[in-house]
Amino acid sequence: MTDASAASPAIAPAAPATPDLDVLIIGAGLAGLYQLYRVRELGLSVRVIEAGGDVGGTWYWNRYPGARFDSESWSYGFSFSPELLRDWSWTEHFAPQPETLRYANFIADRFDLRPLIDFGLRVVRAQWDEAARLWRVALDDGTTRSCRFLITAIGALSVPTLPRIEGIDTFAGLICHTANWPHEPVSFEGKRVAVVGTGASGVQTIQEVARTAASLTVFQRTPNWCAPLHNRRITDEEQQRIKASYGEIFRQCRESPAGFVHRPDPRRTLEVSAEEREAFWEQRYAEPGFGIWMGNFRDVLIDREANALMSDFMARKIRQRVKDPATAEKLIPKNHGFGTRRLPLETGYYEVYNQPNVELVDLNDTPIERITPQGIRTREGERAFDIIVFATGFDALRGAYDRMEIVGTGGQRLKDQWQGGARTFFGIQNAGFPNLLMVMGPMCALGNIPRSIEYNVDWVAGLLRHLRDHGRTRVEARRESVDGWMEIVRAAAVGLLSNEVDSWMTGVNRNVEGKSERVLARYSGTGPEFRARADAVAAGGYRELDIA
Ligand SMILES: Cc1cc2nc3c(=O)[nH]c(=O)nc-3n(C[C@H](O)[C@H](O)[C@H](O)COP(=O)(O)OP(=O)(O)OC[C@H]3O[C@@H](n4cnc5c(N)ncnc54)[C@H](O)[C@@H]3O)c2cc1C
Repeated sequence: MTDASAASPAIAPAAPATPDLDVLIIGAGLAGLYQLYRVRELGLSVRVIEAGGDVGGTWYWNRYPGARFDSESWSYGFSFSPELLRDWSWTEHFAPQPETLRYANFIADRFDLRPLIDFGLRVVRAQWDEAARLWRVALDDGTTRSCRFLITAIGALSVPTLPRIEGIDTFAGLICHTANWPHEPVSFEGKRVAVVGTGASGVQTIQEVARTAASLTVFQRTPNWCAPLHNRRITDEEQQRIKASYGEIFRQCRESPAGFVHRPDPRRTLEVSAEEREAFWEQRYAEPGFGIWMGNFRDVLIDREANALMSDFMARKIRQRVKDPATAEKLIPKNHGFGTRRLPLETGYYEVYNQPNVELVDLNDTPIERITPQGIRTREGERAFDIIVFATGFDALRGAYDRMEIVGTGGQRLKDQWQGGARTFFGIQNAGFPNLLMVMGPMCALGNIPRSIEYNVDWVAGLLRHLRDHGRTRVEARRESVDGWMEIVRAAAVGLLSNEVDSWMTGVNRNVEGKSERVLARYSGTGPEFRARADAVAAGGYRELDIA
């Protein structure tokens, strides 16, 4: 351990034992990095444990070809430091993964965070010790650390999942998941490639692989509605404009429901004429980013008729872009309406299926039977491949919590308490788990993630400051406070068409045992509402929490 970790804790221990650290943070993605910066600022002793070999989280692990933002780069970066905004320049409106990984490294170096991070270590268990009033944290190297406060910054999309297919370990070629991509370059030139999965990562991968692969076979279970990204480089003039208007950009994000620069159109879909509607949708389709999803008519995601019209518009686009009518039909989602699952943004995705080297296999007609040493065997026979890519997503939202054994008061396990759905207070605290603080935990506001990260980290730092200033060493959400927040979460979900669809947003992932039923999996209210309520808790002196 370094000097920092050995420093005596600044929070006065009201408890018998002195922990190694005031604060231990798990995860060195953007959330963990910013939380580290804020905790250090409070004068508390702190270290970070990170499973990966370096900083960046999502952007460290997801190195697959074509990985890039769906958020506008200049709305994604942190806003807390004017120097950072001045000195960091995004090169594209939707930056590719290598650039975002450089950004994470830039932050770590600029604020000298790296010396406080232990890489290549995974937290496997954390146990609350009530008598000593601290957490005992076990790592996968067999060592333990103790800390007064445990902060999880472990990501909502950080646990990749593979389908349960027989023979997956027997493949003789290269096999990889998009979120666990090799660090050395992978060439597809002249190779026979299979991509399994057509969610956001699958779509990005497919576009890229199709350029050079000898053959690309896409195995699709659920087609998604995909809309054009319209990415381009940021010109020098635009760069100057962006830097001069950061204040306005972040204000727009703060005021919008999901932290993006896009806001819903105040009109209802059927309020305008068919011609006007078509022209509006054409305009949105031609614009960059999530405008078509988040800047659509305000009822598209809640009104069945409006959603059906929008879905029909998107289906016509697919039919226009894909030459073979049978392939086009396979690419048109039939089991969910537009925008009710995470919308992949694409660049020439549909045109890929016009290429002679690309074939689409619908897993509903032709299920995979097993992976063989040579390739993939379906009901129709065996296909040989050199590379198999799984773009099969994540055990989302709570997956990283389920992977750890987190034991609170009275020996209760977090995963047992969350059977039937995660329950938290603002995604930050929980009853029965004192001094466990979650950043981007289940039931926090999502959307343009760094906008939420910044808010949640600052809220957690504010709470720690309050405890430090009042000489308190224990904080736990009251059960009724958790119940109260869960009622708000439940009410916010009423009427959303996305709740009627199986997806990670409703907690469904059939590749994970016990996650095949829809549950209340996320807070789907707006960011401004979330912040107003959480601000009120802090302003009221945290009366919803038991503090001792
Ligand atoms: C391909 C992809 C594209 C995305 N694009 C966007 C986008 O355009 N806009 C947007 O807003 N969001 C996007 N996201 C979401 C993205 O996850 C967030 O934007 C953000 O990077 C999350 O940061 P985080 O620090 O909360 O979590 P993460 O970046 O996931 O970091 C969590 C870290 O915790 C570590 N960890 C987890 N468990 C343990 C453990 N037990 N022990 C030790 N370490 C552990 C992990 O190794 C990881 O490094 C995307 C996600 C993916 C996968």
